[in-house]
Amino acid sequence: MAGWEENVRKVTPYVPGEQPKKENIIKLNTNENPYGPSPRVQAALLNVEHLRKYPDPAASLLVDKIAAYHGVDSAQVFVGVGSDDVLAMSFLAFFNGNKEILFPDITYSFYDVWAELLRIPYRKVPLDSDFRLRKEDYFSTCGGIIFPNPNAPTGIPVEPDFIEDIVKRHPEIVVIIDEAYIDFGGKTVLPLVEAYENLLVVRTFSKSRSMAGLRIGYAIGSRKLIKYLNDVKYSFNSYTLNQPSILLGAASIEDEEYFRKTIAKIVQTREWFKEALEQFGFQVLPSVSNFLFVTHPNYPAEDIFEAAKKAGIYFRHFHNDRIEEYLRITIGTDVEMQAVVDFLKNYMK
Ligand SMILES: *Cc1c(COP(=O)(O)O)cnc(C)c1O
Repeated sequence: MAGWEENVRKVTPYVPGEQPKKENIIKLNTNENPYGPSPRVQAALLNVEHLRKYPDPAASLLVDKIAAYHGVDSAQVFVGVGSDDVLAMSFLAFFNGNKEILFPDITYSFYDVWAELLRIPYRKVPLDSDFRLRKEDYFSTCGGIIFPNPNAPTGIPVEPDFIEDIVKRHPEIVVIIDEAYIDFGGKTVLPLVEAYENLLVVRTFSKSRSMAGLRIGYAIGSRKLIKYLNDVKYSFNSYTLNQPSILLGAASIEDEEYFRKTIAKIVQTREWFKEALEQFGFQVLPSVSNFLFVTHPNYPAEDIFEAAKKAGIYFRHFHNDRIEEYLRITIGTDVEMQAVVDFLKNYMK
C-alpha cells in the first residue's frame, strides 16, 4: 500500500442489483415498477432552457406538494436525491452518539454501509425464526434505530402500535422508519410524527411512483428534525434536487388516480402470482410490498437464480447465510409474471 493510501477513507460499498444492458429481458431484481410514471410526468418534461439556472435549493414546489398531499406543514418535509440520499443525510445528522444504533440482521443492506462510512457504531438485531422483528429487541439503550416497514427483502410489515411502543421508550434517540414500500399495503406511521418529535418517516418515488430513474426521496418529521436535516444538507450540497426532479416529482403527486390504479394492479398481480408460486411448492413470506421473498424446499435458490437468468429473467439473490436459500422477486406486469410461471413449469418438469 502506498503511503498516501493510509489516509484514505476505506469503505466496502453497497452493491445495487444488476442493471443488465441486454434488451428483452424480464427484470424483476430491483423492485422497479413496471407501469412507468403518470402521463402527467411526461407532459411536464421541461424545456432545456430551464436548465440554465440553478434549481430552487429548497425545492419548494415539490416540498409544498408533498406536504399538502400528506396533510403536514412544508417545514416538516425534507427532500433528497432518492431516499438513499435522505437516509444517508439522516444517518449523518441523527446517529451522532457513541452508542450503537440498531437495525435488523436481515434488512436493507445499505444501512451497515452508511454506518461503516460514517463510523457509527451499530448492532444488527436478529429477526426471529419467521423473519419477524421483535419489538422488545429494540427497547434497550442505543444510539438510534432504523428499519423499513414493511421490511426488505422480506416484505413483512409491523403495525403502527409496534413502532409507537419503540418510539415511546426512546425519547433520547431518533427512530427512522423507512417506508419505501408502504404504498403497496402496509400501515404508515406518518400520523405519529405529530406526537413524537424524534420519529422520522422516509419515503421514495422510486417504487410506488415508478420514478427510480429520476431519484426523488423525502422524509417527514417534526419541524425540529427537518431543520436539523436541512442544516446538514446545506453544509454538504445546496442543490441536491435538480430542476427536472422538482417539476416531474410535483407532476406525479398531482395524478392520484394513476397512482392508485397502478398500485392496485401490482397488488392484484402479487396475489395471483403468490398463489401460483405456492402451487409449485414455494414457501412465500407474507409480503405487503411489490416483491415476494421465496424459498423452495427442493430447489436451491442459486440454481433457480442462474437458470432464470439464462432464460432472460432476473431475480435478486442475496449472499447472506440466513437467506442464502431465498430469492426476491419483484412484481412486474401480468405478462411478465406469467412468463415466470412458464419458466418454472419448464424448470421443474
Ligand atoms: C429502494 C429502497 C430504498 C432507496 O430508494 P431510492 O431509489 O434511493 O429512493 C431505500 N430503502 C429501501 C428499503 C429500499 O428498498
